[in-house]
Amino acid sequence: MDHCHTSDLISLEQALDKMLSQISPLQQTESIALTSAAGRITATPVISPIAVPPFANSAMDGYAVRIGELQANVPLPVAGKAFAGAPFNGVWPANSCIRIMTGAPIPFGADAVIMQEQAEVSEAGVRFNATVNSGQNIRLAGEDILKGANVLPAGVKLGAAQLPLLASLGVADVQVIRKLKVALFSTGDELQPIGQPLQDGQIYDTNRFAVRLMLEQLGCSVIDLGIIPDDQAALRAAFLKADSEADVVISSGGVSVGEADYTKQMLDELGNVSFWKLAIKPGKPFAFGKLQNAWFCGLPGNPVSAALTFYQLVQPLLAKLAGHTEWHMPPRLKARALTPLKKSPGRLDFQRGIFTSNAEGELVVSTTGHQGSHVFSSYSQGNCFIVLERERGSVAAGETVEIEPFNALLRN
Ligand code: AMP
Ligand code: MG
Repeated sequence: MDHCHTSDLISLEQALDKMLSQISPLQQTESIALTSAAGRITATPVISPIAVPPFANSAMDGYAVRIGELQANVPLPVAGKAFAGAPFNGVWPANSCIRIMTGAPIPFGADAVIMQEQAEVSEAGVRFNATVNSGQNIRLAGEDILKGANVLPAGVKLGAAQLPLLASLGVADVQVIRKLKVALFSTGDELQPIGQPLQDGQIYDTNRFAVRLMLEQLGCSVIDLGIIPDDQAALRAAFLKADSEADVVISSGGVSVGEADYTKQMLDELGNVSFWKLAIKPGKPFAFGKLQNAWFCGLPGNPVSAALTFYQLVQPLLAKLAGHTEWHMPPRLKARALTPLKKSPGRLDFQRGIFTSNAEGELVVSTTGHQGSHVFSSYSQGNCFIVLERERGSVAAGETVEIEPFNALLRN
């Protein structure tokens, strides 16, 4: 029975601790072009080669002036023009001003820019109707980023928030950690790949599809070894091939105690089992260990359990191995349950829920419905996990629960 012997199950925290304390991040790095760096992890801090802005420039369309030459009601003739990309480099006679546009370099000697809305243009020149402060409307060189500044630490994933910043500095190549190689296979005589008709007793292979997608999203190189039948020799061959090619091997199925469940046995034979029973639901049978070369994660067969254990355990493992030190699980939030939630004490439960904020700005959450470990639609309907403590029983509507919003791996 499911809830009989929960004392020999290890907690999620213990499991994560065991996994993360054993591994260390990849050390190999490579230099790649910024244009193909999306999704990669910085290996070293990025230092700015230039100041941003690189030169003092105008924040307004208007007139560059020397404040000492301004006199009430005395117009100044325009001695030249400065455009963005076309600086004024001529001689600037005394008692005149320079027409200047936004982004144009500040002419040498100017100490303010007066916006054109405060200027009155006549034959005699330009008259200014404003009090003028030294430095006004001038963006200073290095005001945003100083040359030599540390703009990104190591361990950051490069995306739409980081890459344009590097582009603004003219950084053409970036030093990143090499991609993780992850080998993947499903086990089960009942599994068929998509695109094939189902024979009696067969089902489609959901897990390899789900895990592959998540691995790709995490920026791993995937070695897909397909479906392996419940046969020890075939499984051994898959383990050995996967171990020789990858940093991490991920299987699904065959980790419980059925008569065709050989995965844990194979890990024992070819490597070391670190643990294989967790006090979480779904996902009790999850095996972690080390093969000769690669780390091994044996996901449960049930698709909801496979995706959950991948998300909660494998995702942090891969983040650490990949050197993604700035990776964090989304924070857990308190929400009020709008629907009752069924639970028996014994395991930490990750039910799938739908959260929103109500008219008062309070977070509320309802269940996606049936929480069976084969009901994958709970992921497609949900937007968060409802995380129910190990010893908690059923939840009545109105009680406060913790939710964990899905991150980019599952968000729809
Ligand atoms: P197992 O852990 O191999 O006993 O599998 C547990 C349950 O998950 C069984 O109902 C399997 O048919 C199902 N299952 C195993 N692997 C997959 C898979 N890759 N895709 C969908 N269902 C699976
Ligand atoms: Mg099986």
